[in-house]
Amino acid sequence: MPTLHEKFRDLPIRHKLGAINLVTTGLALCLATAVLIVTEFFSYRQTLLEDVRVQAAMIGENSAAALVFNDARGAQEILSGLAASPSVVQAAVFDARGTLLAVYRRAGTKAMPPAQPDPDGDRVTWRRLEVFHGVRVKGERTGTVYVHADLDKLYARILWYAVLVTVAVLAALAAALLLLGRLQHGITGPLMRLVGIMREVSQTKNYAARAAVDSRDEVGALASGFNAMLIQIEGHQRDLTQELQERKRAEQRLDYLAHYDTVTHLPNRHFFNEKLKLAIPLALGTGNHAALLFIDLDNFKIVNDTLGHQIGDRLLKSVAERLGASLRRGDMICRIGGDEFAVILEGLGSRDDASMVAQKLHHSLSQVFVLDTHEIFVSASIGISVCPDDGTESDTLLRHADTAMYYAKERGKNNFQYFQAEMTGKVLKRLTLETHLRRALEREEFTLYYQPQYDLKTRGIVGVEALLRWRHPELGVVNPGEFIPVAEETGLIVPIGEWVLRTACRQWSTWKATVGAVPVAVNVSGRQFQEDRLVDLVLEIVAETGIEPSQLTLELTESTLMDNSETMLEELRRFERAGIQLSIDDFGTGYSSMSYLTRFPVNTLKIDRSFVRDIPGDADDVAIAKTIIAMGESLNLKIVAEGVENLEQVNFLQAYPSVAVQGYYFSRPVPVEALTALLQEQQAGAARAA
Ligand code: C2E
Ligand code: CA
Ligand code: CA
Repeated sequence: MPTLHEKFRDLPIRHKLGAINLVTTGLALCLATAVLIVTEFFSYRQTLLEDVRVQAAMIGENSAAALVFNDARGAQEILSGLAASPSVVQAAVFDARGTLLAVYRRAGTKAMPPAQPDPDGDRVTWRRLEVFHGVRVKGERTGTVYVHADLDKLYARILWYAVLVTVAVLAALAAALLLLGRLQHGITGPLMRLVGIMREVSQTKNYAARAAVDSRDEVGALASGFNAMLIQIEGHQRDLTQELQERKRAEQRLDYLAHYDTVTHLPNRHFFNEKLKLAIPLALGTGNHAALLFIDLDNFKIVNDTLGHQIGDRLLKSVAERLGASLRRGDMICRIGGDEFAVILEGLGSRDDASMVAQKLHHSLSQVFVLDTHEIFVSASIGISVCPDDGTESDTLLRHADTAMYYAKERGKNNFQYFQAEMTGKVLKRLTLETHLRRALEREEFTLYYQPQYDLKTRGIVGVEALLRWRHPELGVVNPGEFIPVAEETGLIVPIGEWVLRTACRQWSTWKATVGAVPVAVNVSGRQFQEDRLVDLVLEIVAETGIEPSQLTLELTESTLMDNSETMLEELRRFERAGIQLSIDDFGTGYSSMSYLTRFPVNTLKIDRSFVRDIPGDADDVAIAKTIIAMGESLNLKIVAEGVENLEQVNFLQAYPSVAVQGYYFSRPVPVEALTALLQEQQAGAARAA
């Protein structure tokens, strides 16, 4: 049970103040009422007493004669006049000796007059008034009048009075409370409003609400404080909301990045995989076909390399738009790699339906793309795999579409191919090769073999050709004929070629320091000439390794010369100025023409081994070989016959002193140690001869 104090403590302030008002005002009014009533009582009783005294005096005066004559009847008559005074209970007249002469009693009272009149005076109590009045005639006491009045009337009146006063007091109290309530409201009202605002804020979390500050008292201070707090919370809330919004935006952005490609705004590979995984069961369930088109742009890398990434990106975006526009609603296109796109077609009636889409895609790219001032033609190779025919797993479908795409590339690009089971072995091998080739340099899987070239007269080594060998831990020794085209296509030939050049030139220095200098020929592929810095690089390597420029021969094929004729000429001239030798490899297999033999600063012709193979038996080959030799001699060029495998060939070539020979008949390409041994032998032979 809570104590009164506790109860009070928990009351709302309004009620507390009300209670205080009630108690204080009530107490004050009660006190005032009590004082009034008591005062009234005494004053009224005094009045009554005086009345009674007057009456007693009047009776004494009137009954003086009756006392003198002892006239009881007369006295009685005088007393009976008191009947008009309702307060008088009884009255009596005593003679001088104190004997009762006459008595009056109010009807219905049994009161008895005192036996002896009291000479000491009046008696006043809470209940009654008793007045004794001595009657004198000529200064001599003749008797006593006794009047006894009760206070019933007084009490009735006081009661009435009390009732009136109480009503008045209650009215006053009510009025006071009303007034105080009003006044209180001035205090509790703002407090209540403050509490209301607080509740509202805590319920609605609307921190923009403000409490009205309508006074400068403590409540006002409280309201201002509360508002200041709200401002702070609102600020925090705003910061928090902003932070949350930013986080949400960041999350959305991340989500976008996770699913979309920012260049083309197409779904990315990740999203594509998800979609493909959904498309497969649908195709399987409905009995329809789903097709996966793997699209790879042809020669996009060249655009990127020559026009820059910005144009490259814009081109991709335009390509994506065109491809997307040629698809139906429900087909999905994604960008899954640099210049690779994939399309998922669902609900196809037959396998062949995909080819229509592939044609449409090709058609969409057939118009030229104009970016700034550049006109760019884009073609694409498309590989198609169909679910369920070519697989029911997304990985398989993707791999097969990719394989078909590679096949399309091999078929001369700008076409589409459906996946066929036979494709896998071939393309796969090629792909594995590419993957391994990418790592071969850093894993130091390359070595150089050297094949000597001989002068037929002296039978001495007049030069060596550096030939690349790739020894892969799993694939074993891979022939250059197999991996060089891949290296060229992928551009890997550039760093590999640099390595070959540097290694061969270093080897020259080593030989010079040990067994004597021997001219070195290095094969340079056309792809290396596409790099602007080839000449600088070669000159750098020459300077770095200390090889004499005249001891270095670069072997180029005819097609290399044809491809880049304009800039090529300038580059070849720089080589010429530096004293570096140039040789045309596989001469006779390309567009051999005198015109560029005279135009380009070439030093050596290498007769392709296909013309050497059948001499002297084949008359045609003999004629060709003779023509090449004559041409070379007329231009003052050195000539090397490649692929010399037998004595007949040697005997035939011996007739031409300008021709050096290279071939299995003399030596296969051999590791550096073996060639060093050959050089040492030759040195020893020369020393013996001397
Ligand atoms: P290539 O420049 O014509 O090199 C001569 C090729 O003929 C070599 O093949 C060599 O082993 C082979 N050969 C030499 N004598 C005979 C012979 O008597 N009979 C027959 N049948 N063949 C002979 P290899 O080493 O397999 O190289 C093949 C091609 O790979 C080279 O043809 C060259 O075009 C390319 N290659 C080799 N090394 C490099 C290199 O470091 N850089 C570049 N760009 N290409 C290279
Ligand atoms: Ca060569
Ligand atoms: Ca050759």
